[in-house]
Amino acid sequence: MLEIEDYTIGWICALPLELTAAIAVLDERHETPESRQENHDDNTYVCGCIGKHNIVITCLPSGVYGVTSASNVVTKMRASFPSVKIGLMVGIGGGAPMLPQNDIRLGDVVVSEPVAGFGGVLQYDFGKTVQSGKFVQHGVLNKPPGVFLKTISKMKSEHISGHAYEFNNIATDVLENGILPEEFRRPPNSSDRLFQSKYDHPEENGSCDDCDTTLLVEREPRARNEARLHYGLIASGNQVMKHGLTRDKLSQEKGVLCFEMEAAGLMDELPSLVIRGICDYCDSHKNKRWQNYAALVAAAFARELLFQLPLQGSPQRPIPSEEDNFNVPGLQTAKGASFGDYDDQYEPECLPGTRVDLLKHIGDWTDDVEGKKVFWMYGMAGTGKSTISRTVARSLQTNGRLGGSFFFKRGEASRSTGLLFVVTLAAQLARSLRGTMASSIRAVLKAEPDTPSKSLEEQFRKLIFGPLAEFRARNPHDNGAGTSQPGPRNSTKTIKHTRVMVVDALDECEGKGDVQVIIQQLAKLKDLTEVDIRVFLTSRPDLPIIPTFQKLKEDTYVDLVLHEVPDIEDDISLYLKTEMSRIAEERHLPEGWPGAAVVQTLVKMATPLFIYAATICRFVGDEHWNPNERVKMISEYEPKWQVSRLDKTYLPIFEQLLASQHETERGAFVQEFKDIVGTIINLQDPLSVRTLSQLIQVSDRTIESRLRSLHSVLDVPNDPKMPIRTFHKSFPDFLLDQNLRRKSQLWVDARESHERILDRCLDVMSNGLKFNICELKSVATPRSEIDDRTIQRCISPELRYACCHWTEHLQKAKHRLTDNDKVSKFLQQHCLHWIEALTICDTDLLRNVIGISFSCMDWNVSYKETYTSWAQLRSLATSTIQHLGSCPCKLLPEN
Ligand SMILES: [Zn+2]
Repeated sequence: MLEIEDYTIGWICALPLELTAAIAVLDERHETPESRQENHDDNTYVCGCIGKHNIVITCLPSGVYGVTSASNVVTKMRASFPSVKIGLMVGIGGGAPMLPQNDIRLGDVVVSEPVAGFGGVLQYDFGKTVQSGKFVQHGVLNKPPGVFLKTISKMKSEHISGHAYEFNNIATDVLENGILPEEFRRPPNSSDRLFQSKYDHPEENGSCDDCDTTLLVEREPRARNEARLHYGLIASGNQVMKHGLTRDKLSQEKGVLCFEMEAAGLMDELPSLVIRGICDYCDSHKNKRWQNYAALVAAAFARELLFQLPLQGSPQRPIPSEEDNFNVPGLQTAKGASFGDYDDQYEPECLPGTRVDLLKHIGDWTDDVEGKKVFWMYGMAGTGKSTISRTVARSLQTNGRLGGSFFFKRGEASRSTGLLFVVTLAAQLARSLRGTMASSIRAVLKAEPDTPSKSLEEQFRKLIFGPLAEFRARNPHDNGAGTSQPGPRNSTKTIKHTRVMVVDALDECEGKGDVQVIIQQLAKLKDLTEVDIRVFLTSRPDLPIIPTFQKLKEDTYVDLVLHEVPDIEDDISLYLKTEMSRIAEERHLPEGWPGAAVVQTLVKMATPLFIYAATICRFVGDEHWNPNERVKMISEYEPKWQVSRLDKTYLPIFEQLLASQHETERGAFVQEFKDIVGTIINLQDPLSVRTLSQLIQVSDRTIESRLRSLHSVLDVPNDPKMPIRTFHKSFPDFLLDQNLRRKSQLWVDARESHERILDRCLDVMSNGLKFNICELKSVATPRSEIDDRTIQRCISPELRYACCHWTEHLQKAKHRLTDNDKVSKFLQQHCLHWIEALTICDTDLLRNVIGISFSCMDWNVSYKETYTSWAQLRSLATSTIQHLGSCPCKLLPEN
């Protein structure tokens, strides 16, 4: 007899007929070992095995169904069978067919699988008015265990490549061998009737034999008389769904494939996969005729799955080296976001001698044992926040106290949202602390590999606060490690254990919710007792940052207003003098050029904006122009309008640009400017001159010559393959500002610009995408075997950009879809090719892009055909996500 501990998989049924079916597919039935626990477990168990796996099966108490009952049963099971770590919920459920994409029929099997935003099971409750279809959706439930999802991926590719669904054979065998009685046979297809959803079953009718058959939904007969598989979202609630229109509504809005009543009770108690045989269509015509067969096919599928499931328990892993102990391999972090990353290596730090008092003030805060956990420095655009952040980070790094850093930057995909914020900081902090943090994070990721895609709050909890709460120094004598003793901090040692994280330009993080959560979570650093982790955070004084800070308790943070710092004029003066003398030297101008009086005028104009000073210096120092003329132009600049300081920074550049054009060519020039510069500032990720030229169909040379006059605001590398960036975010802000519209012809309309980029993306994709884009010899080539050279040869940078970002432009253009418009035609022709290309480019990207596509669907549901394309895309894409790492072409049989 096996021991309690030998059973590792829990199998839960709701109905006795499901239990019967489950027992019928076991290889062997074991004697149930006696529980060693004196608990109040009144579950009854059936133990047995399938393939290599030992399974314990239990059934809900008779007549007590629903989410709560399932949750109780599973809690008891876990107490009695402590080795059970994953579960299967196997039984019957109601189908939600949505023709043509979800042709679910009676006797088919639906398996829970994560789709964007949901772990595979959606918990819901009806509001009071079931008839009008109101419902309340609860929080997001856990995903099925990764090991099941991986196995399913493998099974799917076998099914696609033509292998029949093995579980049909299993079901037949069970019946042929008399293991189950005749009642479990498949009913005739003629009894599979799907009525139009608006047609309710008349109460006077007993069976459906008298129901109006002209109101049946017509469906093609299937070639083979067998059950099929569907993967996707299962809705789970405490009431029976028996209303066709409500079913359709949920199916359409959320992509629900199946309704049932127990799964939601399991998912968070025991990570489980839900397998449902379809016995009715959740409408008022439902009856029990298909229940037995549906229970059998569900159990048969569970058996097929368990046969393929690898044994749990990890093989011996190599012992990690000393340094590896502090790393978290496999964690995707934001490219370019950390201090010292390649992308930002030439970004300026404070000029020696400037910002002296301010930097000392910040330094005192990091040294102060009683210092508050968050130092929030805010200031208006262009006051030099990022330059200060880099200087602070450099100094912390030198002292070994930099815990990590994240520099937000709008317009750079991975740095403009909160998506990778927590993982990027957690990985850096673990390396910096050199203690147990990394191993704690590795343990979390092993147990729950999907943690990095969870809500920000959960990521903070599991990847930062949890590991920090259990933090122990690896070696108490290790310089820079945390304390090894629990209990109150020893104040004489605390300074050594302090780590400071630098978070710059939080206002450039898109998504107000993310910004709020980040502030609120960082404020919780004060609750840590084992280590002293602090944050130096900068932002503009924007919404929602100010009110979020105001709501925090005063003892959590200290703030400083940058543009009110008194010595800023001196600093700007020093900066301008230093830069001007550098220009004088480079351009062989006399010493002391351009003269103290001119510099003083420029200082007055610039204060308190460092960006103004920096822009003037680039403008004047531009090698293509005469510095004397430019200094004269700037210092004599008299705006026609009452202008803001930012206008003062940028308007002269534009006026000079326009003035240099001949009257007759001005119109064309303005249009070209909007095309080129408008595109650059609205791109979702920076592009090189060469790629930009391909995307917008303007020659390299034209782009380069247009940008030549903008070298003071745009960083245009000499290498045409390197990306063009803006020096400062205030430049796109300025160009896109509504107020500029009346001041300059060069105002850029953001919506118009996104619309134009969208249009170009669609053209690039329509011309470039095709089936088997990498021209692989075999469509069965796994993704891992496609080398980077092939990918780069077959997917050009502009095509890659278009594939990754067109949906974002669609969203930002507030583009309304209409049937048969360019978007819908593109989706009809190239949807599958698009997903193939995305899968080849980047798996994580695919996930994000699909997420964005779904939000496009939300506000475009009124267009039926286009909506259907999106919905098809969604189900396809979610199944593709499961296949990532396998064969991108082969996954798409419709090609
Ligand atoms: Zn009926």
